[in-house]
Amino acid sequence: MLEVSNLKKQYKDYGKHFVAIKDISFTVKKGEILCIVGLSGSGKSTILRCITGIEKNYGGTITIKRKKSFDYFKKDRIALVPQKYSNFPWLTVYENIAIGFYGKNYSEAKIEGLVKKLLKRVGLYKFKDSYMNKLSGGMQQRVAIARAIAQETDVIAFDEPFGALDVQTRAQMQEFLSKLWEEEQKTMILVTHDIDEAIYLADRIIILGTNPGTIKEVVDVKIKRPRKPEIRFHEDFVKVKKYINYTIRSESIKASLEEGGSLYKDVIKLGLIIWSGNIPFYYAKDSEMYTDEQIEVEQISFDDNQKKIDYFIQGKLDIINVTLDKAIELQKKIPDLKILGILNQSVGGDALVAQKNITSVKGLRGKTIGLEKGSPGEFFLTYALHKEGMTYKDVKIRDMKCSEIGSSIISGNIDGGVLWEPWLDKVCEFSDTNVLKTTKDYAVLYDVLIIRKKIFDKKKDDFLKVIKIWKKAVSKLKSQKGEVISTTSSHTGIPERELLEFTKKVMFLKSTPKCIFDIAKDIGHTLIKVGVLDKYNKPKNMFLKNEKRKTL
Ligand code: ADP
Ligand code: MG
Repeated sequence: MLEVSNLKKQYKDYGKHFVAIKDISFTVKKGEILCIVGLSGSGKSTILRCITGIEKNYGGTITIKRKKSFDYFKKDRIALVPQKYSNFPWLTVYENIAIGFYGKNYSEAKIEGLVKKLLKRVGLYKFKDSYMNKLSGGMQQRVAIARAIAQETDVIAFDEPFGALDVQTRAQMQEFLSKLWEEEQKTMILVTHDIDEAIYLADRIIILGTNPGTIKEVVDVKIKRPRKPEIRFHEDFVKVKKYINYTIRSESIKASLEEGGSLYKDVIKLGLIIWSGNIPFYYAKDSEMYTDEQIEVEQISFDDNQKKIDYFIQGKLDIINVTLDKAIELQKKIPDLKILGILNQSVGGDALVAQKNITSVKGLRGKTIGLEKGSPGEFFLTYALHKEGMTYKDVKIRDMKCSEIGSSIISGNIDGGVLWEPWLDKVCEFSDTNVLKTTKDYAVLYDVLIIRKKIFDKKKDDFLKVIKIWKKAVSKLKSQKGEVISTTSSHTGIPERELLEFTKKVMFLKSTPKCIFDIAKDIGHTLIKVGVLDKYNKPKNMFLKNEKRKTL
């Protein structure tokens, strides 16, 4: 029905270009209710303004019923219901609705019949001769909605239509809209900042991130219709709500950190990459383990690892998780970097694979290898090559996303690549490949929590509690796997089955393995050999393990 692809909008602000939204792509199916949620300023209204043709100057394309939107708008329109003040105060309720039929060449009698029908449908027949100032906010919005229906468009767009109403009226209006949709089966795009409203009404929800506005997640709402108001207390509803809340909260904290906000000053800010390896942290948050230990921790999710590291360097985040090799490398930039604890170890979850005819790492010489730059896979490849006396110079590296590496190997476009789950399994399933080395062969991928010594010294006990909580959550994962997996699934949106498979290839750690110093030395040594570092600190000095005992 409607297709938005690569939508981008820049505004000029004091002569400077400012990107409000970018890379926005989605489709809306006929008869579907699509909701767009996101913080204020994330570009929700901008998207609607482009879709409805109010805004004409944008990048990307919008297609409606297979026509370029500008061609579509020569004959048709998309009705828009804004937040408020869209009715004409000098017209009666009847006239405010009738105006919607303007330009249709209907006879007076036909219009009268249609308006009367609509008046009954929105429950305003008694008020047909009233003016706007006599109506409540809810009634006024019903007039605006009736006028939108009168326009007989294929799609109706709503921009926070109930945002100005009180809670009670808003709930009634949501029910009203839901019933109306069941009768009309119109295609609707609804922008809201009310998550309950979105879940109650939507078939699908798009979550926007800020600065610039991009799509963070698309959530399918599988709750069946018709939806009764009580559905809000149902387990499935609460699950979706938790997930969306978590995503938006993360976005809001990131936006505040970006502006150097002091809002979260006294709270421990823990930056995490969106990854299944953080299952214990997600569980800890959900089961209020931080509250029980009387510390306040905000877990902020990043999909961009480098951004997370940059924020840490700038002091916007107190603790982050990185791979051990990254921690060793970062010491160059941050001399007082310490390892607060070891979280997990990849045991077969990452691997170097190659096409059938290549049977050893040496066989990769001169071949094209897919690698996601900046990922833990980068070090894994460095290490595997180094073990054979090779470096990146001996192979041709192609920088691509892990998912892309998977499909390129299957289609034979590259000779090999570094892969991790779930794509690693997919490649082995669909093509005849050789797994050359995995993290079972080379146990060098550990995930660790890092902190700066000067930050740690400010609140030692609190930071040590974070590690204590991690250990508690890992114990729980081991003893009550089902419960932890189900909770994490609703927190992250990752299907339970996928999480379960994942836990087989990652070992969650409760204590620091004895061999870790030797591994750290080995990693440091490799990083020197390949020219990333020219020296590294004694691994023992990187760990804060005995810190508490010393201070007591
Ligand atoms: P939302 O509806 O999600 O609150 P908007 O689409 O209204 O967000 O705005 C997105 C961003 O674009 C904001 O940072 C806003 O300040 C900016 N913006 C919106 N309209 C204009 C405009 N006409 N000129 C300059 N900047 C604008
Ligand atoms: Mg808006």
